[in-house]
Amino acid sequence: MGKAGALNLPLALAYATYLHCQNKNGEDACGTCSACSKSLKFIHPDTNFVFPLGNIKGDKDPDRFKAEILKSWRAF
Ligand SMILES: [Zn+2]
Repeated sequence: MGKAGALNLPLALAYATYLHCQNKNGEDACGTCSACSKSLKFIHPDTNFVFPLGNIKGDKDPDRFKAEILKSWRAF
């Protein structure tokens, strides 16, 4: 966690993108390979986002609720 506007999350996402990149250029991810493309869309299967889901028990369709949360997260 960091202060609002801190670069903790962008740095973590950039590092995950670098780790998964299939064509690293030594200092950075290529930004164009399939792994980078997935990372930039927040859909790389090896990058997991973990955050609390407060009212999932009250939702009648937990899978739909999770899908909506993921949409909101990716938009964020
Ligand atoms: Zn790449």
